[in-house]
Amino acid sequence: MDANSSKNLTNIELKIQDLLSKMTLKEKAGQMLNIGLPSVLTGDYWDDRDHAVFDAEKFKKYIIEYGVGSIHNTPGYLATKEDWYRIVKEIQDSAMRKTRLKIPVLYGIDNIHGANYISGSVLFPHQIGLAATWNTELTKHSAAITSYESRAASLPWNFNPNADVAMNPLWGRISESFGEDPYLISEMTKAYIEGYQGNGLENSKSSAVCLKHFIGYGAGRNGKDRANALIPENSLRQYFLPPFEKAIKNGALGVMISSNAVNGIPCHINSYYINDILKGELGFKGVVISDFSDVEYLVEAHLSAKDKREATKMAVNAGLDILMNPFDADVVNIIIELVENGEIQMSRIDDAVTRVLRLKYRLNLFKVPFNNPNEYPDFGSEKHIAANYEMASESMTLLKNESAILPLNKAKKVLVTGYASNSINMLNGAWSRTFLGRETKYNDPSKLTILEAIQKEIGATNVEFVQGTDYTEDINTNLAVKKAKDADYIVVCVGEIPATEKSSDINELELPEIQQELIQKLSALKKPITLVMVQGRPRIIRKIEPLVDAIVMAYLPGEEGGRAISDVLFGNVNPSGKLPYTYPKFSGNALPYYHKKADIRDINWGYDGFYPQFEFGFGLSYTTFEYSNLKINKDTLAGLEELKISIDVKNIGAREGKEIVEVYIKDLVATVSPDAKKLVRFSKISLMLGETKTVNFTLTSKDLASIGIKNKWITEEGDFEILVGGNPQELLKQNVYFKNSNSI
Ligand code: BGC
Repeated sequence: MDANSSKNLTNIELKIQDLLSKMTLKEKAGQMLNIGLPSVLTGDYWDDRDHAVFDAEKFKKYIIEYGVGSIHNTPGYLATKEDWYRIVKEIQDSAMRKTRLKIPVLYGIDNIHGANYISGSVLFPHQIGLAATWNTELTKHSAAITSYESRAASLPWNFNPNADVAMNPLWGRISESFGEDPYLISEMTKAYIEGYQGNGLENSKSSAVCLKHFIGYGAGRNGKDRANALIPENSLRQYFLPPFEKAIKNGALGVMISSNAVNGIPCHINSYYINDILKGELGFKGVVISDFSDVEYLVEAHLSAKDKREATKMAVNAGLDILMNPFDADVVNIIIELVENGEIQMSRIDDAVTRVLRLKYRLNLFKVPFNNPNEYPDFGSEKHIAANYEMASESMTLLKNESAILPLNKAKKVLVTGYASNSINMLNGAWSRTFLGRETKYNDPSKLTILEAIQKEIGATNVEFVQGTDYTEDINTNLAVKKAKDADYIVVCVGEIPATEKSSDINELELPEIQQELIQKLSALKKPITLVMVQGRPRIIRKIEPLVDAIVMAYLPGEEGGRAISDVLFGNVNPSGKLPYTYPKFSGNALPYYHKKADIRDINWGYDGFYPQFEFGFGLSYTTFEYSNLKINKDTLAGLEELKISIDVKNIGAREGKEIVEVYIKDLVATVSPDAKKLVRFSKISLMLGETKTVNFTLTSKDLASIGIKNKWITEEGDFEILVGGNPQELLKQNVYFKNSNSI
């Protein structure tokens, strides 16, 4: 940090202290409230609207009398950036003129994959697709664009990125996460933050992040949204905390608490997690916000508090700074009463308000409370669309390509079929213009579905389309089979209904039967079938995988997804994504790649019990990469010495391509049973035909560490394998010995 920024930060702290000293308890409690925008609009909260009208009475109550500190959510329709400007400006004008201390409101919004609630913004692939690119530069760029487009609508605080570790493949919000690996998640989250905040939070093109969901949301025991997770202390520290820790080190000033319970303790009342670990150990100086209505859920869903008063007390004392209490300001009165009754200390309130004001000052909201939408000429521009297309293309993951059936010959006839083949909504998934993303009225007619993109690529006369199925219902599978008889190739696009949170809960991981049946029927024709999967979650395809020749995993690729998929199918793009999670073959054998050896004992007491459909880190290309010459600069490592690794990668195939080089370590013996392996570095490189590149990595003993028996990071003396390559089944190996046990 240079001298100027450090002086600026000191000034901010002085201003906060000054303001805080002037605030009444009611004003402080108001800063701790977040309501939903519809609470100040005419009509009922959940009404669909086509424009936003402030309800004078509600507006006066919440904005002026209660001085609400923060607002979130949409007005109930897809607003333009100009509409947003009008909405936010009116709120800020009142907050900053008509309240005693003139404190601006902090507006938060769920920009899950682009500034998705602003008309005309670009809709990127969901986070899982970003993770599949393994490209931190592209991730940073997409975050910078999202930040810019969000700020164009005066929305400075983003309820993202999602730093959850997705451990249960049933979990519907895997699509909103960076997958199962703590290191990949950490690197992607860091890149996202750099894109969002890299130009300085005070910059009117930057927005602040709010990491979520703290913590263990992606590990629900039954795989359902908001389900209890069982996370022992060593797993918490080994897998779940590192992404948050890295993000906080890189400037994150917002954290949203997870709605679920861990070990039966709702995260919202877990003082150990919030006060001791997050604010204590990790030194987090930003704002901790609750998830939607979660104080009420402490009463209703968790049965941990007898009423809202008790729930508020528990949550605030556990370290919550803002309560997302969308429909009411009642918690303000409750907080006041609890403080007056000595059940919450004033120092806790001061800490909370200090954090809220810190974020507001850092975002420069006191001086620039809203932004002129005309000062964002690149909003929704060709430049941004091109970046979105690049992101979508790089996320495409080729999982099978028997007899090099892909790329398809553009002169042949194709039958396109399947639930996901002709829908923009399915490419976009939830959080697209509306919460569930199922409305078609907001779709941009210039965007292409998979079918439309294929028609554009090879000419409509070469393409036959029969939808075949719905999500779970037959529409006309027999007609699809009939039409397939005249086609040279069959492209079946399967997928999931756009959903998130509770609506994304499922009871079985298998791809719905009817979608599998379509493939089974088509396979009788013995024509080449390409399966395109449009889904956030790895749905089980064990029975149909042998029936298809090629598989492209598209995740939820966003608005340019149709084009990107077609370009992969016809070879305009050489796929370069790799799986950010383990794709299970059986729902009863779903393990992350970093399982323990004892987890994979088989029925013969051998160790062949890990047989996923596709491994984490797997993905094919239209070219072939050859790995050789894995070198390490020493075979014994001591203390904090560095280990230099190099490997040669050669493109020995027929075309230029991008490759992800993955580096894992494997601890051969450790007191706490070691993981099968652990990703510690990766690099995405581009290779011309015949080109060789030497890729270098540096590790330290910290990379060898894992959580030991005392729940602290430790590197025990002994042998480690260094595994490097592009395909998890063909990693090259070198051994290194780590000397001297030391705690780091
Ligand atoms: C979700 C969060 C989201 C919040 C605000 C909740 O229901 O779990 O991810 O940020 O709503 O919209």
